[in-house]
Amino acid sequence: MSKAHRGSGIRSEVNHGRGQCPVCKRTEVKVMYEVTIEGQKAKVCKPCNAHLKAVAAN
Ligand SMILES: [Zn+2]
Repeated sequence: MSKAHRGSGIRSEVNHGRGQCPVCKRTEVKVMYEVTIEGQKAKVCKPCNAHLKAVAAN
């Protein structure tokens, strides 16, 4: 599975993977990165995924 987050790989996602990011509250962004926030699984946008990763690494 290459390019799981772009192109035809996201056609099967609801609304092509777009929606509102629960972290930054932006709408119509691609929310396709599954993260665990406070024990709950959520899908966030790319910048938030990177940010959460950076925070978790510290
Ligand atoms: Zn976000």
